[in-house]
Amino acid sequence: MTDTRERETARKLDGRQCAAAIREEVRAGCAALMEQHGIRPGLTVVLVGEDPASQVYVRNKEKASSAAGMVSEVLRLPADTGEAEILATIDRLNADDSVHGILVQLPLPAEVEEQNVIQRIDPDKDVDGFHPASAGRLLIGMPGFLPCTPAGIMELLKRNGIEMKGRHAVVVGRSNIVGKPMALLLLREHCTVTICHSRTRNLAEVCASADILVAAVGRPGLITADFIKPGAVVVDVGIHRITDEATCIELFGDNPRRLKAVREKGATLVGDVHPLDGAARAGWLSPVPGGVGPLTIAMLLKNTLVSAGNRIR
Ligand code: NAD
Repeated sequence: MTDTRERETARKLDGRQCAAAIREEVRAGCAALMEQHGIRPGLTVVLVGEDPASQVYVRNKEKASSAAGMVSEVLRLPADTGEAEILATIDRLNADDSVHGILVQLPLPAEVEEQNVIQRIDPDKDVDGFHPASAGRLLIGMPGFLPCTPAGIMELLKRNGIEMKGRHAVVVGRSNIVGKPMALLLLREHCTVTICHSRTRNLAEVCASADILVAAVGRPGLITADFIKPGAVVVDVGIHRITDEATCIELFGDNPRRLKAVREKGATLVGDVHPLDGAARAGWLSPVPGGVGPLTIAMLLKNTLVSAGNRIR
C-alpha cells in the first residue's frame, strides 16, 4: 500500500481558487441585478438551537452572502422551538418577497421531523436543493436548484477541464445531499456511473476501475492506494478532525505542518481519501482542506442569485 507514496504526482483540484472565481461572478451578478432591476438578492438562514458546528457554518454563510452584496439574515430560534413554530417561520419567509433563498441549517433538534420542514420551503426559494421537488427535477433533467456540494464539485471538474463524457465515475456514498445527486450530475455529463455504499462488495476493486472517483463516505482516509486507478481524478468530500499524533503520522507521514497543527491547535483536517496515497497515485486530487469545502457556500450564493434573477422573468 505504501510503495506508491514516494512521489506526489496528483495535480491539485483547487477549491479555494474555484470558489473565489464563483463568488466574484456572483458579486458581479448581484451588482448587475441591483443596478438593472433594483433587486437585491436576499438569503435567510434558519438556525434552531446552539450546535457549535452549525453556528460556525451559519456565520460563514452570513459573511459570504453579505460580501456578495446580498441581504443576509439569520433567524436564531431556541433549541426547544417546536415543529409548528418552525413551520410558521418558513411560511412567513415563503410569503416575504424580499427573501429569495431559505436555508434551514441541519441537523434540526431530534424532536423535529426534518422532512416536514424541508418540504414546507417554497421550491422556488429552495437554494439548498433538498426539497423533493428539486430532487425530482434533477432526476428527470429539468432545471432547478442543485444541492450545493455536488453542484460545486461539477464546477470544480468543469473549470479544470476534466473530461467526463464516456468515462467511468464511481461515487462512494449514497446520501441524499451528496452521493445520490452527485451520481445524477455525473450521469447528466454522460459519465458511466457506479454508486457504492456501505454494503458494496469488493469496494476497493470497484473504486480502482474509476476514471473519476468521488469519495463521500464519512470515513477518514478510507480510500487508500489500492482504491485508486493510477492517474484517476479523485474528489474528496469528507471532512474529519484528526486529534491524535499517531493517526496524524499514519495519514500524513512526518509532515511538520500537520503535526504542528495537532500539537498546537489540537487538530488537523483530513478527508475520506488517504492523503499520501491520493497524492502519489491520482492524476488530480482535491485537497482537504481547500478542495470541496469552499465550493459549498459559493454554490449557495449562486443559487440565491439565480432565485432572485428568476423574479424578473
Ligand atoms: P452520510 O453519512 O449521510 O453518508 C455516507 C455514505 O457513505 C452512506 O451512503 C454510506 O452507505 C456510505 N458508507 C459509509 N461507510 C462506508 C464504507 N465503509 N464503505 C462504503 N460506503 C460507506 O454522509 P454525507 O452527508 O454524504 O457526507 C459524507 C462526508 O462528506 C462526511 O465526511 C461529511 O462531513 C462530508 N461533507 C462535506 C461537505 C463539504 O462541503 N465539503 C458537505 C457535505 C458532507
